[in-house]
Amino acid sequence: MLYRYNVMPKTKISEILNTRARTLSAEIIPPRNGTETDAVYRQIGALKNVPVDFISVTKGAGGSLRGGTLPIAELIERQFGVASLAHFTCRDYSIEEIENALMDHHYFGIKNILALRGDPPDGQPDYFQSKPNRHEYAWQLARQIRDLNLGRYLVREGYDTAPRAAPKSEKRKGQATDFCIGVAAHPEHEPLELAVDYLAKKVEMGAEFAITQMIFSAEPYARFMEECARRGLKIPILPGLRIATQKSAAERMVKKFGVRVPQALVDALARAQSDEEGRRIGLEFSRALCEKLLALGAPGLHVFVMNDAATAAELLRAFRAG
Ligand code: FAD
Repeated sequence: MLYRYNVMPKTKISEILNTRARTLSAEIIPPRNGTETDAVYRQIGALKNVPVDFISVTKGAGGSLRGGTLPIAELIERQFGVASLAHFTCRDYSIEEIENALMDHHYFGIKNILALRGDPPDGQPDYFQSKPNRHEYAWQLARQIRDLNLGRYLVREGYDTAPRAAPKSEKRKGQATDFCIGVAAHPEHEPLELAVDYLAKKVEMGAEFAITQMIFSAEPYARFMEECARRGLKIPILPGLRIATQKSAAERMVKKFGVRVPQALVDALARAQSDEEGRRIGLEFSRALCEKLLALGAPGLHVFVMNDAATAAELLRAFRAG
């Protein structure tokens, strides 16, 4: 590991979830390529002050080009002393490119990876038709990470073996990595049984915890957790939350992510006379939702930060004492 001699030992999120009664965490988005990068330091600083238990960093989400996931995840740990979770999407890469990128994470001492497929690029709904040497689903990425944790590396035809001598499933034995694997869960996916099937598959492939798609009411989370319990799925599942402070943003989330936003929140935001009033309405709504989720037994709260880390920090701070 490159930084073996000058940093604290890296913490796995599975360990944090096992030891803390309530985990508080947040997701940040790298700045758009070519924009000011210092903003990210201010966001991390605001979240560290809560203090949060870990910060996750998205990869390529939202359409625009945003590099930096790995170095930002690394600096969260090295410079700020906070555990980080690097999102890793498999949608654009061959399995060989994925193995190399996972090794970059390993060298940098990144312990926690959120294994995702990623959204299709805008206007390309057929993007995920299966292609050779590529994953179609996140569970396949989870399996590839678990393989590395078992010291099983890809075999290179023509290099490790004669061309076509080895079946694709054969693995080369190597040094085991030690990644903690997280995945996405989708409580509002219909039918519910299938949503839980998909999560169960990820758990079978080594997922140790999950974070849900953003939710704006406690009911889908409660139903999803009940179904998981009925099926014997025991991993911690953190509810994902986003603070809606403007009517237009709330409507965009419905359109873009297919999530349900209560009409009462949309109407209240529509009546807001100022940005500050919208912020207060969104914050109060999220605070009440967090209370319900914790009462349902949620192991923690994970807030998606868009631009406003201060508001996310304010929400999380209200739950730090408990
Ligand atoms: P999958 O589990 O592979 O699901 C993809 C699709 O396949 C879904 O429609 C699902 O219903 C279906 N499916 C899943 N498993 C199976 C199966 N076994 N058999 C048949 N069908 C199946 N996107 C980014 O680009 N970058 C990010 O950083 C990012 N971060 C995210 C963080 C969180 C917490 C969440 C919830 C989502 C995030 N996303 C991100 C978006 C996410 O990648 C998309 O919502 C994507 O469409 C689904 O991702 P997944 O990882 O759940 O993929």
